[in-house]
Amino acid sequence: MAETYQAFHRRSIEQPEAFWAEQAELIDWHKPFEQVLRFDNPPFRDWFVGGETNLCHNAVDRHLKDRADQNALIFVSTETDTEKTYTFAELHREVSRFAACLQDLGVGKGDRVLIYMPMIPEAIFAMLATVRLGAIHSVVFGGFAAHSLATRVDDAQPKVMVTADGGMRGGKIIPYKHLVDDALAQSEHPPASVLIVNRGLDPDMAIVAGRDVDYASLRERHLDANVPCEWVESNHPSYILYTSGTTGKPKGVQRDTGGYAVALAASMKHIYCGNPGEAYFSTSDIGWVVGHSYIVYGPLIGGMATVVYEGLPIRPDPGIWWQIVEKYKVTVMFSAPTAVRVLKKQDPAWLKKYDISTLRYLFLAGEPLDEPTAQWISDALNVPIIDNYWQTETGWPMLTAMPGVENTPVKFGSPSFPAYGYNLKLLDEVSGEEVGPGEKGVVAVLPPLPPGCLSTVWGQDDRFVNTYFKGFKDKLVYSSFDWGLKDEDGYYFILGRTDDVINVAGHRLGTREIEEAVNTHNSIAECAVVGVADQLKGQVPMAFAVVKDPAQLADETLRASLAKEVIATVSKELGAIANPSQVHFVTQLPKTRSGKVLRRSIQAIAEGRDPGDLTTLDDPSGLEQVKQAVTGQS
Ligand code: ATP
Ligand code: MG
Repeated sequence: MAETYQAFHRRSIEQPEAFWAEQAELIDWHKPFEQVLRFDNPPFRDWFVGGETNLCHNAVDRHLKDRADQNALIFVSTETDTEKTYTFAELHREVSRFAACLQDLGVGKGDRVLIYMPMIPEAIFAMLATVRLGAIHSVVFGGFAAHSLATRVDDAQPKVMVTADGGMRGGKIIPYKHLVDDALAQSEHPPASVLIVNRGLDPDMAIVAGRDVDYASLRERHLDANVPCEWVESNHPSYILYTSGTTGKPKGVQRDTGGYAVALAASMKHIYCGNPGEAYFSTSDIGWVVGHSYIVYGPLIGGMATVVYEGLPIRPDPGIWWQIVEKYKVTVMFSAPTAVRVLKKQDPAWLKKYDISTLRYLFLAGEPLDEPTAQWISDALNVPIIDNYWQTETGWPMLTAMPGVENTPVKFGSPSFPAYGYNLKLLDEVSGEEVGPGEKGVVAVLPPLPPGCLSTVWGQDDRFVNTYFKGFKDKLVYSSFDWGLKDEDGYYFILGRTDDVINVAGHRLGTREIEEAVNTHNSIAECAVVGVADQLKGQVPMAFAVVKDPAQLADETLRASLAKEVIATVSKELGAIANPSQVHFVTQLPKTRSGKVLRRSIQAIAEGRDPGDLTTLDDPSGLEQVKQAVTGQS
């Protein structure tokens, strides 16, 4: 009989070594490990000690035997009108050529390669080629401004940087190479070489002699390259990746090799249920953790074809994603609530236009998936929707349904249960004691962190310990800085960040709870709620809402009555204590480039303070609207 979810999870916590040794069989090892877990210097821990492997081997070479001629990479760009597929054999050849180019530029084991690229196949070749050589990549989201890029260059100190002349977004050219030049002028540790994929998008691109290298020309010299994989010890770093910067300065997460490969392989089996030979479509970007784990490494390790999409979800029309699903028979899809909220503002007929019957699951992660939004997308697509809760730090889901283990029913609004390997607890933030069902607590993980989670903060072991493990005095537990509760049935609900908890006249409210209540109003597409200082009550909630149809805001009377209705909805759902003091309507919320609402900046503005670090802010007009709303109406 199949093991239940509970039994599976219990085994992973009570016998972690046996459990993970079993999962480790899902990947290839060049040399077997001697010890499953070393945990003699907590909170640091090493998985699969002494084992030798390579991420690129597991993602590419390993499949040549059985599926050389099957698709590995499906590239669709609605920006340049390009579609191109690569089989595993073709991917292998291109990665080998790319690796030879990097070698030519002096890259070897342990060197860093900074990748600042649009969503094009060469970006994935560059990542795979880097780990093939035992080097360490640091992918920076293409679109970050020069200063943010310079900070990351100085942190990683790369030997080589890989970029393109340009990227495109919404039909507009973004001159990447130009941004790189600006960044390197500000940087204290510029790389010796910049390798450029020239797409012919920026005819004015400047070339720095002696530093800049044209990829196409260098590749020509390595057409017959056959670069072997560098076998590295399991704990050798594979990459550095920065967190989204939603709460402040981003942290440079360092990932290992073997533990990560095992964690991803296991997740493909137990969580995503993707089979070799099928297609996986994650709508994220390689600049984020979802892109690393579920555009590049996870699907490929699982022998699946991965869709690499350059473009917006609504261009040329809001049916584009489903058209891709139909055409390439996608079976598993991964996206974010922010994208679903974009679709929510479009005509739902677009979601019905294509045959998406191959699709088994749509996974969503990155922000709380409120119940009304989950219900909406579930009705529109008629596909199981699975909320995933995790972080850049963990590399793979912490809370999720696991249909590959047991088909537990989902409750919309909840990312279900702790994934195997995570000894996850909700702790009282003062006493550090576990809270009971229905009580709110801080999400924490008792170490050792499972395979796949960060090894440390790049170059800053003390920051790793102090940032993540010092939340509860002497107790050594990993805190995720989120706030949640567990219901009587064991389902978890994330209530928001610990920073976002509002204290109204002594009552502790998660902004998420109020946002969810606001979202139940039929006219609202999305919203942000922040706590604003109040002399009487300590704090009061203030809401910023985006309506589905702007016609509803045509005049002041309509606005005022909608605001009243929204407040009445919150009152009905949560009680008057949670009522927003004000509801401001905007057409856009300020978000990070990874699509997360920047509540800390909204709150700062609402309280008349400086919005803080805005380096990860996407479109400044969202913040402008908040400013206008606050100053114009209060
Ligand atoms: P930074 O750590 O730099 O402030 P960040 O926390 O936004 O940025 P990420 O690693 O991209 O960086 O995001 C992880 C966070 O996103 C989680 O800690 C949680 O707050 C939120 N999150 C992710 N998925 C979910 C989800 N399914 N439900 C609720 N919250 C989620
Ligand atoms: Mg975080």
